[in-house]
Amino acid sequence: MIALARKYRPKRFSDLIAQDHVAAALRGAVAQGRVAHGYLFAGPRGVGKTTAARILAMALNCERRTPGGAGEPCGECDPCRRIWTGAANLDVVELDAASNRGVDDARDLRERAMYAASTESGSKVYIVDEAHMLTREAWNALLKILEEPPPRVVFVFATTEPQKIANTAAPILSRLQRFDFRRIGPHAIVDRLKAVAKAEQLQVEDDALTLIARSANGGMRDALSLLDQVLSFGEGPVTAARVREVLGLIPDELFGEMLRAIVERDAAAIFPLVERLLEAGADLAEFVNGAGEALRALLLVGVGGQPEGLTEGLMSVVREYAPQLPPADIVRLLTILSDSEERLSRSANQRLLVEVLLLRWAMLDRTVEIGEVLEALKGPTAGRPDGRTNPSPAPSHTPTVSDRPAVRPSDRPTGQKLEPTLENVRSIWAQVVQDARAKTPLLGSLLAEAEVVAVEGRIVTLRPGHAVHAEGLERQREIIAQALGQYISEAPRVAVAAGGASAERITLAGASAERLKSLRAKDPTLSAAVDALDLELLE
Ligand SMILES: [Zn+2]
Repeated sequence: MIALARKYRPKRFSDLIAQDHVAAALRGAVAQGRVAHGYLFAGPRGVGKTTAARILAMALNCERRTPGGAGEPCGECDPCRRIWTGAANLDVVELDAASNRGVDDARDLRERAMYAASTESGSKVYIVDEAHMLTREAWNALLKILEEPPPRVVFVFATTEPQKIANTAAPILSRLQRFDFRRIGPHAIVDRLKAVAKAEQLQVEDDALTLIARSANGGMRDALSLLDQVLSFGEGPVTAARVREVLGLIPDELFGEMLRAIVERDAAAIFPLVERLLEAGADLAEFVNGAGEALRALLLVGVGGQPEGLTEGLMSVVREYAPQLPPADIVRLLTILSDSEERLSRSANQRLLVEVLLLRWAMLDRTVEIGEVLEALKGPTAGRPDGRTNPSPAPSHTPTVSDRPAVRPSDRPTGQKLEPTLENVRSIWAQVVQDARAKTPLLGSLLAEAEVVAVEGRIVTLRPGHAVHAEGLERQREIIAQALGQYISEAPRVAVAAGGASAERITLAGASAERLKSLRAKDPTLSAAVDALDLELLE
């Protein structure tokens, strides 16, 4: 039995799915006799790049090609058939760069390219698959060919990673016409699968094809291979259950149970849910992936959109829970997810991480309450606990002593030292600068231009006024700490932030940590909740 992916591979440009822009351009080039010497076909795997290259080779060598015709190959003549089946052919050379990456192969290619096409009217087409795998030396050899291309020789480089080619062989890109192939949408894949099923006289459920399309992740070839795989396991109609079993997919009802636990804040349901997943032999990374897709669909429905590529089963679950989860909460859930995803891929204990992720989701409502309290604390009556008046200081702004309220001698803390908080350190900063000036004028001016951006624990973080000051401040951290110690309790220590964006980040992180600290001091219940919810709130 011929594999479906092969049997139903397109024979004409117009058969290419979702690549109309490429098909139209290539057809036009063939019809007008303006085919380039080099093409770059970029795009995800399985979307028709090498197929398009073969159709181009067919079109250029087709015996029934008519000048001024539509630019399509006939698909039936001898050269067309030979090229389409991939039979040994003088006029089309396919190379897989993954196994032919060396300079010797490129040299060999160069020598071979010198021989023009075997027939007067045809063209010789070199198809280099996985072209990003070619070495720099191989590209250099190819560049020489493309600088003076032999007549009627066409190179097609197919790649999933065009950026890598830009990095190793930028000069060659200017010699190539680039086409970007699109990922094929789930609808288009399902439609194509339906057409194939009809032609093959197969009985299929719509949900089964949706599941296959989802697993294929935008690749037509993969979708047909998966259908083959499902068909090779047993007889009878292709049902969603059969597809799930063969492809090891997670039942929709488990995603439904997950959403229920989140909506009803049923943390106790999390452990049995993970247990069921493991019993079903589910891949936990895949579950997390699917959970993310379900949430994304939920969000889309919540903001009035229409998710694509979900089975009817999952879609009904999404419709059921969408009204109960406000979009803002779903965004929070997704933020927590993106925090966990990277850790999940590296972790040896996926089960624990998935349990923690689901628990954090199920306990999300408490995060919201604290968020509201934090919001309220910013209000005019409570004042900003961090004492800042400007929520985001412009990085270009370099504060000077005159910008700050001068601390008069009578304001100086006498005997009693201040707690290390951002507000306190800022209040005595002008005095510290003045003290430092008296001893070391140079240090004084470094400090005058620096800004106190954060106080965390007893660490006072300074941002230098200019990047070049950082080293000087760094060297004199001990001296600065001593100067601060005159006014601040708990033996402060000094850290120097990098200039620019990172300093800004430190400022914001410091500010929210500060806010949380004062919040926790005021309310022991909230403090316990913060502990239970992990460090996420500190970020
Ligand atoms: Zn033909």
